Formats: sequence, C-alpha cells, structure tokens
Amino acid sequence: MFNVPEAHPRYKSLTKREKLVTGLEAGITSRQGLIAHGRGEAFDYLIGERTLNSAKRATEAAAALLLTAKKPVISVNGNVAALVPEKVIELSELLNAPLEVNIFYWTGERVRKIKEHLEQHGAAHVLGDKAEARIPGITHARAKADREGIFSADVVLAPLEDGDRCEALIKMGKKVIAIDLNPVSRTSRHATVSIVDDIERALENLISGIKEMKKSSRKEWLLEKFDNQGNLRAVIQEIVERLKELKEFDTV
Ligand code: ATP
Ligand code: MG
Repeated sequence: MFNVPEAHPRYKSLTKREKLVTGLEAGITSRQGLIAHGRGEAFDYLIGERTLNSAKRATEAAAALLLTAKKPVISVNGNVAALVPEKVIELSELLNAPLEVNIFYWTGERVRKIKEHLEQHGAAHVLGDKAEARIPGITHARAKADREGIFSADVVLAPLEDGDRCEALIKMGKKVIAIDLNPVSRTSRHATVSIVDDIERALENLISGIKEMKKSSRKEWLLEKFDNQGNLRAVIQEIVERLKELKEFDTV
C-alpha cells in the first residue's frame, strides 16, 4: 500500500483510496466499488467530511434499533471489508450479531476472499457463503442470502447497499439501517434509518453510541420519535447551509 504522508491535507481521504485499491488487488473490492466510492466522496465533500447533526440523530436511532433487535445481522460488501474490517468485527462482537458477506457483483470466489479477509482480522462468525436463500422481488445473483443470516434477520445493518435490495428487504418486513453518503439515493429513501455519513465515521459513532445506550431505558422512546424522511430533509438542509457558507468563501 502506498504510504500517504500524514501531513497531506487530504490524508484521510487518500488513505481510504489506498485501502480500496489494495482491496481491489486482493480480489475483495470490485472495480465498480471504486466508482461507488467516488460518488460517496463527492457527497462527503459537500458535507464537509464531518458528521452532521442529523447523522448523529440517525446514529442514535440506529443504536436503539440494533439493541432492541431480536436477530440483527451486519451486511459486509467488498468496500466495507476493505475500508473498515476491524470496525464491523467490533460491532458484530458488541451486538453478538453475525457478519454476512453480501455483494452486488456476486462470485463465490469473492465471497470466500472477503470471508477469509474478515477471519484474518479476527471475525469468528461470518455468513454469506451458503447463499441458499433468495430475497424475493430481485433477480439474479443479487438476491442471494444465507437462510440463517440476512434472510431471517429482523434488523439488517446494510452499509453502502443497493437501492433495489434495500427496498426488497423492507418489503420482506425487515428494518434496514443504511449507511450512505447520498441522502437522495434509493437506499437512503427506503431504509428505516439512514445514516448519511462516511462508513468509518458512522461505525465509530455507532459503536460508541451502542456502548453508551446499552443499559439506557430511552431506546423505545428514541425509536418512536425518529422520523427518517424528516431527518433526510434535515440532512439536505445542513448541506444547503454549508453550500451557502462556501458561496461566501473568497480566496483572494
Ligand atoms: P441506490 O441504488 O441506493 O439509488 P446508488 O446507485 O447511488 O444508490 P450504489 O452504487 O447502489 O449507489 O451504492 C453506493 C452508495 O454508497 C452511494 O450512494 C455512495 O454515496 C455510498 N458510498 C460510497 N462510499 C461510501 C463511504 N465510504 N461511506 C458511506 N457511503 C458511501
Ligand atoms: Mg445505494
């Protein structure tokens, strides 16, 4: 991996690109995944590469939803595995929820490589290689899921998910937590709770939120008052405010 100088103003962003290129070379990340990351980066620029207040509220609701779930499952694709393997594993242990490899451009070989990559990082319970069940309403390999994992879960944490599949999971009666930098993607629009933030920042906040909330009695109340569509409007409002600030920015 190319060593990005820490003093570089875009250190964090460039390091993420390096991780994805390494993931691509290892057969974990798809080529299309690089393009999807670029779309995310563009939104992150508009957001100011920080966590918005609306994302903090969504993260609280997501923590409450995961802690009250009967059978939560964490979906991992090739970008997530390359960018944040340690963090999804920490979350999985904290919630006692399995990880499931769930990829859009499905091949048995890539599933196996992602599973091995997670196990090398210490994951004990990785699903996704059976893929014997099918999510109704979507065609081809994208419908694959493990019967004991996503297929029978009540809450699915699905970072960087495809809109079609998110909608299909909701139609199955599941609650879906999305992590997606695009507030107007179909995924963000269909999910039960949409965290509009970068995957790394979102998982850090989610992990600390869950630790804080574990014994709290506010979980049901938080879930009841959370309005995802209203929160997505708040995201857009925060981006608009930031664009107004940028408009005033003068380099001379
Ligand atoms: P949809 O199918 O939901 O309409 P889409 O077609 O725009 O979405 P996909 O290719 O399905 O996009 O999924 C990639 C999504 O992941 C994009 O919306 C992008 O903003 C988001 N994304 C990419 N990288 C990151 C990241 N590091 N953190 C958070 N979100 C990201
Ligand atoms: Mg999407």
